[in-house]
Amino acid sequence: MSEIKTHYRTCNICEAMCGLEIRHQDGNILSIKGDADDPFSRGHICPKAVALQDFYNDKDRLKTPIRRTTDGWQAISWDEAFAEIANRFRGIQDAHGKDAVGVYLGNPNAHNFGNAIMLPRFFKALGTNNRYSSASADQLPHHVASNYMLGAGMLIPIPDIDHTDFMLIIGANPIVSNGSLMTAPGVGKRLKAIQQRGGKVVVVDPRRTETARKADQHLFIRPETDALMLLAMVHTLIDEGLVDLGHLAPLIEGYERLGDAVGPYSPERVADACGIAADTLRGLAREMAAANSAVCYSRMGASTQSFGGLCQWLTNVLNILTGNFDSRGGAMFTQPAFDLVRNKKGKPSSYGRYESRVRKLPFFNGEFPVATLADEILTPGDGQIRAMITIAGNPVLSSPDGGSLEKAFESLDFMVSVDIYLNETTRYADIILPATTGLEVSHFDVFFNSFAVRNTAKFSEPLFAKSEDQKHDWEILKELALHLTGLEDDGVTPEMMLDGGLRHGAYADQGMSLEKLKANPHGLDLGPLQPCLEKRLQTEDGRIHIAPPLFVEDLNRLDAFALTETDQGTEYPFSMISRRLPRSHNTWTQNSHRLIKGKNPCTLKINSADAQRLGLEDGQTARVASPTGSIQLPVEIDDDMFEGVVSIPQGWGHNRPQTGMSIAESQPGESINDVTDRQRIDALTGNAAFNGTRVSIQAA
Ligand code: SF4
Repeated sequence: MSEIKTHYRTCNICEAMCGLEIRHQDGNILSIKGDADDPFSRGHICPKAVALQDFYNDKDRLKTPIRRTTDGWQAISWDEAFAEIANRFRGIQDAHGKDAVGVYLGNPNAHNFGNAIMLPRFFKALGTNNRYSSASADQLPHHVASNYMLGAGMLIPIPDIDHTDFMLIIGANPIVSNGSLMTAPGVGKRLKAIQQRGGKVVVVDPRRTETARKADQHLFIRPETDALMLLAMVHTLIDEGLVDLGHLAPLIEGYERLGDAVGPYSPERVADACGIAADTLRGLAREMAAANSAVCYSRMGASTQSFGGLCQWLTNVLNILTGNFDSRGGAMFTQPAFDLVRNKKGKPSSYGRYESRVRKLPFFNGEFPVATLADEILTPGDGQIRAMITIAGNPVLSSPDGGSLEKAFESLDFMVSVDIYLNETTRYADIILPATTGLEVSHFDVFFNSFAVRNTAKFSEPLFAKSEDQKHDWEILKELALHLTGLEDDGVTPEMMLDGGLRHGAYADQGMSLEKLKANPHGLDLGPLQPCLEKRLQTEDGRIHIAPPLFVEDLNRLDAFALTETDQGTEYPFSMISRRLPRSHNTWTQNSHRLIKGKNPCTLKINSADAQRLGLEDGQTARVASPTGSIQLPVEIDDDMFEGVVSIPQGWGHNRPQTGMSIAESQPGESINDVTDRQRIDALTGNAAFNGTRVSIQAA
């Protein structure tokens, strides 16, 4: 036996970027613990990190390309796979145009260093505008709000959680998610620290979440009325003369337009719709204004709903008006070593540059909303998608109305998936190209360093070498690009591109380079967040647009929905929201036995009063139905649910046949996206509106 060695790396499963200390010997993992010397995570990890070894060792994991045949899946060589894919894609594009091939990117791409760097080259080679990703089922409203207010979709304000005195959390459960668009490992401790220094944490959510239970105050709110609540708070600040723009005052454009827009939204007018008393709404606004520092943070529940764009705009407005934007303890801007905010001053936004063919939804940041992907495949006509490539994604389970995507994928002329599993989506592919996984790849967090609550930088070397017949994701993308274009390999690697970005980035004067990061395997601390907005703003006039007309006009849609009597509740009387679980992340985490063992967590949470009215008992199977479809799952009576609201976890539903995920497939659990509706979107941004889906409930 050789000696026991220790390897340090960043966990790339979720956004938190926890540092890991992995002891190993002869290719076997002995332990995975938090790296106490990581300057960012300081020893924090969650149970999912330990499962990295399960994905590495998983016998279900694909390691060589496979092709679907009438006799089942058969192994093929990489050369054969690349040649066939390029040939089929080129043939389809020659006959039907470039846009006849579509691309879908799953969320793991954002956690994959090689892909994050190499995808633009692949996109250029493929030349299609028909690109889709999980971003439009998640955080698109944040990007659109930043695009219009600050001039750059990637310039997203992050709560300075470690220095704030008052934190208002809307529709987020960071104790379970470990932060999202707030990369913050160990959120629980950070929230507790707010309380220990005399501050206050308030959570607003239709469910008393794990985070809400630790907060000083929890307020139930009716789903999809968060924008009304934020409007009432902004109204109060202006109405009561509590506005303090601080150092940003000279940069604010549109203040009068904002005042006119929020004028009608007094707390008294919106209180009933929100389910929160007017006095409480006024009180919250006053508390935020009075705090030494304060921050409002709104996330999934406020983004993946019909008014996600309005919510993110108004969250920013609230932080600006209370003097808590780009200010210590407020909403600040990370200054990453590898900066994704390019100098765009004067360049037009891509928002709405094209409209999707069938539903006329807006193009933004190089893609169309995933809620219309099935329409673009299933609707005949010029521009119809006839072939697809999915990269590290399982949209059948993660996108609204997943069943429609199954029909769509089945109808394609040709489909390719880059994935380590034969899953509910990739089973429709003609060819699957498996890449290396977590412990075999180098890592630098290209995206989440931009959303972190502290400036740090870290590079992780691979722990295990890949075998000769395996390829990294970026190698697959590069090979595909070369086969599609016929160009010669220029030898450029993601590490070279990263090094160039680091050497010319914000820490160039400190000698930042890839070599320097490699010499510091625990990572480098680059200090707390600092006010930096004035120099990073990308609007053409160099000002902060506090009331972009596009957002102000969208208030008409909110009024029509939330402040007008409707009969939407009669046939489908419940409002459904999703929830995240501590031991699952993407659909593949359910193929780790250690992450799914124990009681089935895929339950229908419902308030006891609602359950009693319906005659439902704990553990009984209920049928949840919407105009899209129906599912059956066990009832969990839980008075942490707001009356009239039910909750189902996201990312489940491995009960479909013919996948290769033997552990996941043996689990109970239904897909919430067999009930969600792909027609429900935030019309402003195109983001999918999962939360607030109207459903009926009855005993099965
Ligand atoms: S919180 Fe996220 S990054 Fe940290 S250990 Fe868990 S899965 Fe990994």
